[in-house]
Amino acid sequence: MGSTLSISSRHRVVSVLLPLPLSSPYDYLVPHEVNVERGSFVQVPLGRRNVTGVVWGASQGGIDPERLREIGNLADLPPMPIDTLEFIDWVSKYTLSKLGSVLRMAMSVPSALASPKAVQVYKLSSGINGKCESLPVGFRLTNERKRVIQILEGSNPRRAFDIANAAGTSVSVVRGLANAKILETVTLTEERVVPNPDPDLERPVLNEAQAAAAQSIMEVLDQGYSVSLIDGVTGSGKTEVYFEAIAATLRLGRQVAVLLPEIALTTTWLERFEASFGSPPVTWHSNLSLSERRRNWLSALDGKAKLVVGARSALMLPYKNLGLIVIDEEHDLSFKQEESVIYNARDMAIVRGRIGGFPVLLSSATPSLETMDNVWRNRYRHLSLPTRFSDAKLPDISLINMRKEKLAKQSWLSNSLVNHANETLKAGEQIMLFLNRRGYAPLTLCRACGHRLACPQCTAWLVEHRLHDRLQCHHCGYFTRLAKNCPTCQADDPFVVCGPGVERLAEEVERKFPDALVEIMSSDSVQKVVDAQLLVGRMESREIDILIGTQIMAKGFHFPMLTLVGVIDADLGLTGGDLRAAERTYQLLHQVAGRAGRATRAGRVLIQTYQPQHPVMAALLRGDRDCFMKMEAEERRQYSMPPYGRLVGIIVSGPNLDAVEKISNFLGKTAPRTENFYVLGPAPAPVAVIRGRHRRRLLVRAKKDIHIQEILRRWVSAIKTEKGTRISIDIDPYTFM
Ligand code: ADP
Ligand code: ZN
Repeated sequence: MGSTLSISSRHRVVSVLLPLPLSSPYDYLVPHEVNVERGSFVQVPLGRRNVTGVVWGASQGGIDPERLREIGNLADLPPMPIDTLEFIDWVSKYTLSKLGSVLRMAMSVPSALASPKAVQVYKLSSGINGKCESLPVGFRLTNERKRVIQILEGSNPRRAFDIANAAGTSVSVVRGLANAKILETVTLTEERVVPNPDPDLERPVLNEAQAAAAQSIMEVLDQGYSVSLIDGVTGSGKTEVYFEAIAATLRLGRQVAVLLPEIALTTTWLERFEASFGSPPVTWHSNLSLSERRRNWLSALDGKAKLVVGARSALMLPYKNLGLIVIDEEHDLSFKQEESVIYNARDMAIVRGRIGGFPVLLSSATPSLETMDNVWRNRYRHLSLPTRFSDAKLPDISLINMRKEKLAKQSWLSNSLVNHANETLKAGEQIMLFLNRRGYAPLTLCRACGHRLACPQCTAWLVEHRLHDRLQCHHCGYFTRLAKNCPTCQADDPFVVCGPGVERLAEEVERKFPDALVEIMSSDSVQKVVDAQLLVGRMESREIDILIGTQIMAKGFHFPMLTLVGVIDADLGLTGGDLRAAERTYQLLHQVAGRAGRATRAGRVLIQTYQPQHPVMAALLRGDRDCFMKMEAEERRQYSMPPYGRLVGIIVSGPNLDAVEKISNFLGKTAPRTENFYVLGPAPAPVAVIRGRHRRRLLVRAKKDIHIQEILRRWVSAIKTEKGTRISIDIDPYTFM
């Protein structure tokens, strides 16, 4: 690569970025015999340790070369590709995260950088064979030794363990032969087998709308950067369309990354990839074993992984030759990372496409307003699939006005929902009940004094979970057993619960449908992708009649016999004053509704609401998404809210309230008073304490066209924090807690 010369031979000083929370790379000397280029993985001394980093570029300067330390070993790996370096740099500047912290996301498998695991194998030394003449004089040939030699005659080198097994002897016999120079050892490196997808397998014949969408993507596939939105109702066959784009990209010899919400990474879903491309994709998510992570990371880097399917972190892999990114369910909130480097993988994928000069495909039945706005302004290409594939009709949606229902105590199912459920069960079909509340009940209080059970380290009520027999905090994971006495008034056994969670709803369902097989799907019952797989499998094989679940159930699942969806409390997401409350409620309920009637049988959706006139409910009823989105856009535009204005959340947190207040007040006082840049706060965050850390928030509102990062850097970076106090900056926030 051309960069080799300019940075090594002339100065012999380069800067190396380390995967640690550091803002910039450090300078190191390059020994004469060493050749590095931008992106080379190198070992460098840091204090008393050795750290593997990446050659970032020319010297930073400012330090006397005499005082610089030398680069140590070069890892035996291809360099990190230049567009990955540029991408890391861009993410760091945009999110105002430390450069080294972003690099760390791209180097998330430190052990992959170590030289590959060596395996010692044994073979016969040259000249040695089974005949006695070939053996040294005085060598005692026992039966065991003889068998070992016979086994290795005409066989590939093998491990001591395997040889001993085959010869019915012990490893020490093999080692003994090696000491006597009858055998010699060979070191092999661990073999890395990566599935190779076949783009030319026969695929389903696309219908007209699918074919038009696929054709439109083909036209831009090798034309550099572009963004296309595949906008189609659930079940319209969006996946088949992007499979065509994947196949075409593979034929160009380039890598493809597909990002999915993590919960969607179930076997059923991955099997679709396998069926289409003849081999399983390389996956990337939080449940891989260390050796899988090593293998997959290295294969992204050396280009052997052609098709990677993963959660948001798959965006950060160091792809050698990426040619397409697909973001399925692009509106999904799980693409936003809320810790450490705070970023939205959907947005950053688009940046990655621009830097790498390749197309990005977004897919959704309910695109985000951000994406729709780009479509309206002709920045993104719009490909629409207006009908469900083949005969499947969109479900019939109706609202149930809960103001008119007279529900008994501890009952949340309307008569109408119960009646339809009975009919569905009689027809041998399946039901899904949606309630976006984990646990048994959201609040537990003392009947005698009114005391509410709260988390000792957060501003949050404790939620009862009968599944695990405990009270749990949903913010920090704290849990405790329900005590016998009230901690305030000491009354004996005084606790009552308020409101339903999925577990409590299940009790009512079991009461009303005693013969039905009922299961719960929430992040408590499916803590891992495998748990979800099991539940999905049981649903598919119809071992479940009624599935009760939270939002994790809304994503991408396809159950042909599911014909009735009941939404228990449609208004739940509308409270709380979140900027995107209406948009998200619409997306979520639409997605949930889309689970009904996906195959040949017609689907029905019943939505229980206390606000049947609300624009969200009206839009769901009429199936008029575009009108709703335009209205929502108009409202946001009026108030200069995203995507028509910018927001930045700043959270000051720490164990010491005085220190937190001091810093947040100082931030408030020193806030730049520029035109088009307003700072609200500081104020206690809605969840004012999490894990014992006090939290103060500021919110920046700005016009779209100003360079917000520059202003923030000058204002916030000037501040020194202490005593464990931390300032975190959330560009384009999605949560306001
Ligand atoms: P979406 O991603 O839009 O929700 P899917 O791609 O999952 O839709 O398609 C819905 C169902 O229709 C799936 O079972 C899929 O296999 C089937 N399907 C979609 N397109 C075709 C096609 N062209 N030929 C045959 N089956 C198809
Ligand atoms: Zn807590």
